[in-house]
Amino acid sequence: MKIGVLALQGDFAEHIVMLKRLGAETVEVRLPAHLEGLDGLIIPGGESTTIGKLAVDFGLIEPLREFGRRRAIWGTCAGAIFLSKDARRNQPLLGLMEITVQRNAFGRQVDSFEADLAIPELGERPYHAVFIRAPIIESVSEPARVLAALPDGRIVAAQQGKLLATSFHPELTEDSRFHEFFLTLAR
Ligand code: GLN
Repeated sequence: MKIGVLALQGDFAEHIVMLKRLGAETVEVRLPAHLEGLDGLIIPGGESTTIGKLAVDFGLIEPLREFGRRRAIWGTCAGAIFLSKDARRNQPLLGLMEITVQRNAFGRQVDSFEADLAIPELGERPYHAVFIRAPIIESVSEPARVLAALPDGRIVAAQQGKLLATSFHPELTEDSRFHEFFLTLAR
């Protein structure tokens, strides 16, 4: 299993550590050629405007769209914003997933917080999720579907075939279940 991590900006190193722990081969992706031969790609958290601008500068937008039509891509936080079709702002987006997101949706008071989520795909044990200046997934339309929501109903994870978007950061925890789930999609 060979998984790329988009390494333009953000916390790509933490994803690489987690993937290696699970026995996957990893590649830092900075140029279109680095996508060759990958089974899947993770787009990390960071700043979605910066990731988008750098992706434009490095000629990655179309190659990433093409990759996502055939293979698995998972965006965490800023990566989820970058995967969406609408972030209610003018910034470069891949537009691969039928989700609308609202950036920094939790405001200043709760910049960061943690919450236990029920995610049936990961088993019965609750999933402890870490949110950092996180977006909310405002709406999900076909063929995308809701994967996880906060107790108040706000959506924080969605899936569309082999594409995954999470508002939170599984790479910052010790729980590898989300990365394992992604590897099954990439297989
Ligand atoms: N607030 C960032 C954005 O809007 C995302 C934060 C993160 O990735 N932790 O792009």
